[in-house]
Amino acid sequence: MADKYDLMVIGGGPAGYVAAIKAAQYGKKVAMVEVERAGGTCLNWGCIPTKALLKQAEFAIHLKHAEDYGFTVGEVSFDFAQVVAKSRKAADKMAAGIDHLFKKNKIAWLKGQGSIDRPGQVKVTKEDGGVDLYDAETILIATGAKPRTLPGLVLDRQTVMTSREALALTEVPKSILIIGAGAIGVEFAYFYNAFGTKVTLVEFAPNILPIEDEDSSILLKRKFESYGIEVLTETKVTGLELGAEGATATFVGKSPKAGNTFEKVLVAVGVEARLDGLLGPDLKLDLFKGFLQTSDSYMTNIPGIYAIGDVIGPPWLAHQASWEAGQCIDGLYGNKVPQKTHLVPGCTYCQPQVASIGATEKKLKEQGVAFKVGKFPFIANGKAVGTGDTDGFVKLLYGAEHHELLGAHIVGSEATELIAELNLAMNLEATLEDILGTMHAHPTLSEVIADATAAAIGKAVHM
Ligand code: FAD
Repeated sequence: MADKYDLMVIGGGPAGYVAAIKAAQYGKKVAMVEVERAGGTCLNWGCIPTKALLKQAEFAIHLKHAEDYGFTVGEVSFDFAQVVAKSRKAADKMAAGIDHLFKKNKIAWLKGQGSIDRPGQVKVTKEDGGVDLYDAETILIATGAKPRTLPGLVLDRQTVMTSREALALTEVPKSILIIGAGAIGVEFAYFYNAFGTKVTLVEFAPNILPIEDEDSSILLKRKFESYGIEVLTETKVTGLELGAEGATATFVGKSPKAGNTFEKVLVAVGVEARLDGLLGPDLKLDLFKGFLQTSDSYMTNIPGIYAIGDVIGPPWLAHQASWEAGQCIDGLYGNKVPQKTHLVPGCTYCQPQVASIGATEKKLKEQGVAFKVGKFPFIANGKAVGTGDTDGFVKLLYGAEHHELLGAHIVGSEATELIAELNLAMNLEATLEDILGTMHAHPTLSEVIADATAAAIGKAVHM
């Protein structure tokens, strides 16, 4: 007789592994089906290795400007394969950590491709081709998403790559065309530029990081151009022809100044649901724009089959995936009412970093909401001047009548850490007065949050 589980999770990324552990904490008998290794895209091919590489990019830039810190370091060289190897080690460590958590929580680890022919049963096809069948009270799909491409752009995964191949290059390319200036495209542009690649970053929308507040996007574009990154907005790549020298691109809109043949191309234009081989021919799950459609409790149209994470649609972020895992499992086993929408911080980890929560200025205007803007630059902050991290600003949007925080936008050195305070403030419906009444340690970058708040009512002290 097949093993029977209370919950079988298919996909061990930040959605699936968090759900499995939380269900085990409720005392449930849980199995995890994963075709690769624990941690999913985030730990293995996304958040963690990219942040490792970005840290090394910052290090490379610091070395180039060592004299600013009073050091003479002579000629600096690097071994790109070692740079990448360090990021792979970080991913290995994280994946091993999740394995350990599975053992600790007594989660059965079933390695193989999971598929569902009918509710209540999961098929696991192992690497050797063997197939095991398991019974499951509840099935949770957390199979994530995979990079998509555009018509006319064929991914050969050598010259024309997704982020996955880009994370495993062992030689630094001389030139790269990055198509798509969302967080992933922007982070890779910063990384390769730091290691001497000639980078062209192309974005169809009027701004890079198009979902961020326009002020953030404009400042980052200016900074990127000052680093030597060519940024082409309102530009579309309509075709790529592969040849001995790399890929030759055709553009509609602006064209690059230094030619249109690139050693490598990175396509970073978004993702699509990963459903390959997952659903048997008789199992019809409803989709919305290609992603699994779920109810308020994360149930698909078939009772007993739930879905969370990237596979159910945007925002495609690890913290959203893990948050959905918590909501779904608390709903299933904790007698709680799951939430579907929430405040989602957005973070991009180039330098300067970009982070935000809540509405943009444009959005509030479109919605006809009356608001006050408080903006304060890092150049007027003592800690920033001391450490040389003076790029950027904090921009806060407060409701005109009740002074509640409606949106926060930060460009600057530790923006992705600083945003947490504003996330909590919005979650607790804090007002301008609450933030002003909170003492910020001196000297810290976080003082800019207090200064921007004071600026919203014309009372900034340091400007
Ligand atoms: P995934 O992490 O994709 O996990 C799905 C898992 O399911 C995979 O391990 C896959 O092998 C497995 N699987 C799929 N099908 C099957 C099957 N049939 N059987 C068994 N197993 C299966 N997000 C952030 O919040 N911050 C960042 O800084 C960030 N940086 C990123 C950088 C890059 C380059 C990329 C590509 C993504 C980044 N993301 C980031 C997005 C983040 O990685 C995803 O939002 C997150 O991993 C989604 O989690 P998930 O669990 O839904 O899916």
